[in-house]
Amino acid sequence: MANTVQLYIDGAWRDGASGETLDFWDPATGQTAGRVAVAERGDLEDACRAADKGFRQWRAKSAVERSAFLRKAAALLRERSAEIAPLLTREQGKPITQARQEVESSAEIFEWFAEEGRRTYGRIIPSRAQDVRLSVIREPVGPVASFSPWNFPLAQAARKIGAALASGCSVILKGPEETPEALARLVGALHDTGIPDGVVNLVYGVPGDISSYLIPHPLIRKISFTGSTAVGKQLAALAGAHMKRATMELGGHSPTLVFEDANLERAADLLTAFKFRNAGQVCTSPTRILVQDTVYGEFKSKIVDRAARLNVGNGSDESTHMGPLANPRRVQAMEAFVQDAIAHNASLATGGRRIGNQGNFFEPTIIEDVPQTARIMNEEPFGPVMILQRFTDFESMVKEANRLPYGLAAYAYTRSARTAAMVSEAMESGMVSINHHGLGLPETPFGGVKDSGYGSEGGSEAMEPYLVSKFVTHSLAD
Ligand code: NAD
Repeated sequence: MANTVQLYIDGAWRDGASGETLDFWDPATGQTAGRVAVAERGDLEDACRAADKGFRQWRAKSAVERSAFLRKAAALLRERSAEIAPLLTREQGKPITQARQEVESSAEIFEWFAEEGRRTYGRIIPSRAQDVRLSVIREPVGPVASFSPWNFPLAQAARKIGAALASGCSVILKGPEETPEALARLVGALHDTGIPDGVVNLVYGVPGDISSYLIPHPLIRKISFTGSTAVGKQLAALAGAHMKRATMELGGHSPTLVFEDANLERAADLLTAFKFRNAGQVCTSPTRILVQDTVYGEFKSKIVDRAARLNVGNGSDESTHMGPLANPRRVQAMEAFVQDAIAHNASLATGGRRIGNQGNFFEPTIIEDVPQTARIMNEEPFGPVMILQRFTDFESMVKEANRLPYGLAAYAYTRSARTAAMVSEAMESGMVSINHHGLGLPETPFGGVKDSGYGSEGGSEAMEPYLVSKFVTHSLAD
């Protein structure tokens, strides 16, 4: 009998009112990994009422008390890493080393927000009259509806839960139905801290049904979504129609500029590691690699050699570098992107095919000579496919880097401080990383511009959308 992941509403685990469940699978074997409960409208209404009740209790706690709950949850996550990480690998496919890192980074995220929540300062404004005090108080916005994706089931959820709780908000999280179990353990760790009922709620079900119920709900005051640009635009429009604040962390198509003065060995090592991490299913994954023509051949041979030597296999094997894709849709998407590129006269430098007929395995793939009309030059691949492009000068590299409506992350490799500074200024993206892949720390901003969304999920900026400013003017006169 497969295990069933339940809903967590008002401090208790339960099945959905209808008893309906959805299956989820192990992407390495194609076998069923378990079932997840489906929330109906009645369950969602219960979650809204619980979040409202939880909010009243939680906001009354001091920032120091709230911090203690988050710290305790971080400690429990670390203690339970040996149980949680294998669940993450089984449902999502990522190598076990990356699953352990994700448990650790989720704990770090909770710790960062535990600290940052203690720094939500207001301010005093100089008054025009001696007996008048002008102050700005920062208050939690209220219950939040958050939607987290399947590529980093723990870390993306931890960012949303951490920011909400540290600000004094309660949260209803819609988790990813295809990867629900490790996240349920994370919520279980929060439960075991003794956090008041209703402060954290976890639901699963039909994504469109849940978002269309929660976003307009009068008790919900803020939305946070991580996922595709297409869905993000729909949810942002709904949030706008109901005057709800929104944080949108959406897709990317990250350009990486490799200049002739770069350390090519280091660039090839780092790009291989970061492109194929989580099988390329990362919103900040480097996708278009723009290489200066003087070093194109040398760089190509280095990176193709490294990609071709990656060990692709079941993520539970410690020696695996890249696991399967998370679902069969991604394999079909990779096949379609590669076939379309080849139909547009692109060349395969390595990879390009699915591996075997069991599980969702796809080869680490590098393609070149891809014209701008090919789909992969315009749509986010969200998988293990890298595009190599040849360029002669800085201006044409920048023009191509900024060509798309996406604006999440950009990368560059150069030994010139001047070129690095020029790249930092020229990129139309929310994040720029030079000579390394240094994005995604809890203490640094994480978010995009243009179609990649708005708001930040890291750094002190991440707290802002969960707080409202209340202006108080107080005359001391009788
Ligand atoms: P999808 O567009 O159907 O779903 C993307 C995410 O949005 C999923 O987590 C899904 O549960 C959720 N979702 C979909 N419709 C929703 C709705 N109406 N209301 C609320 N949530 C909804 O695509 P998919 O096949 O699951 O994922 C593939 C695409 O999603 C990729 O191409 C990638 O662009 C994007 N994605 C991005 C991230 C990220 O970190 N930014 C994470 C996961 C997926």
